[in-house]
Amino acid sequence: MGSCAAYCLAQAGKSTVLIEQFPIPHSRGSSCGQSRITSLGDYSSPFMKPIINHGYKQWLKILATAAENLFRVCPMVIVSQDHDFMKEKAKIVKDAGVDPVWIPVDKVNEKYKTSFPKESSAIIDTSGGILFAQKCVQEVQRLFKNLGGVIIDAWPVTSIEPGDPWVQVKGRRSVIRAKSLVLCPGPWATEVLTPLGIDLPLKTVRLGVYYWKVKDSSFPRGTICDMSDPQNFFYAVSPIEYPGLIKVEALSMRQLLARCWLEWSKVMIPSTT
Ligand SMILES: Cc1cc2nc3c(=O)[nH]c(=O)nc-3n(C[C@H](O)[C@H](O)[C@H](O)COP(=O)(O)OP(=O)(O)OC[C@H]3O[C@@H](n4cnc5c(N)ncnc54)[C@H](O)[C@@H]3O)c2cc1C
Repeated sequence: MGSCAAYCLAQAGKSTVLIEQFPIPHSRGSSCGQSRITSLGDYSSPFMKPIINHGYKQWLKILATAAENLFRVCPMVIVSQDHDFMKEKAKIVKDAGVDPVWIPVDKVNEKYKTSFPKESSAIIDTSGGILFAQKCVQEVQRLFKNLGGVIIDAWPVTSIEPGDPWVQVKGRRSVIRAKSLVLCPGPWATEVLTPLGIDLPLKTVRLGVYYWKVKDSSFPRGTICDMSDPQNFFYAVSPIEYPGLIKVEALSMRQLLARCWLEWSKVMIPSTT
């Protein structure tokens, strides 16, 4: 977020400094790691739609000039027994400009060796993709620097003093004055915002990322998303980061340990990686 905000400001001709608390590159924030699933229809609230569309267009521009491959088209299969949710999901995907493809759940079970109940419904969101997260951050920072942007890393912001005409940003050894400040502290939002009198109901949650060895090497290319419980879903991404290992992520441990084990244990063994 911060790197993209800095890049946008530099594109708009603003003299911009990007401040990072850790030495760059680092693996301690939310944007570290290799892959992130994306979809044009992946929004839970209508106000996200223009943001996602705008972001997607910006990424297409970045991908067009990047020396490295930063993105892979990766259709996303979404499965749920909640038919109202699925209809809504299909509508969102269609509104995003992509026709959702309805597929019988037995086809999904056959292809992915899953055992979703027969009353489930499934769609393919063909706008799905995978961004190579860490490489994306590095590329955006490179573009930012090319436009004359300055990155100061290993510089934790310890306090912020709003003011007119200057806002003062203090670190351990020095102070930076700026006309405006954009805050993108990610999981550190509470530490940064509370002293400014902004109390957002945020809680940082540690997420596990699991890699499972695929017993059957013909695991289909793409992402499969189990949205049986839309509030606690999990998804699996075909082997992209490590040969022969699918990535499984869940928004709740309960979901991962219960459903994930039942669905996937027939075809995979947990990896020690
Ligand atoms: C394991 C995992 C999997 C995910 N999977 C997906 C996915 O598949 N698809 C998807 O769309 N999203 C996914 N997300 C969410 C997505 O990655 C995050 O929403 C996004 O990376 C957030 O970026 P950010 O810039 O807000 O936070 P961060 O990347 O954490 O950046 C915040 C930065 O601010 C710096 N900072 C904080 N405080 C200070 C300070 N006081 N001084 C200086 N610097 C400071 C931090 O060091 C950090 O570098 C996932 C997240 C995780 C953790």
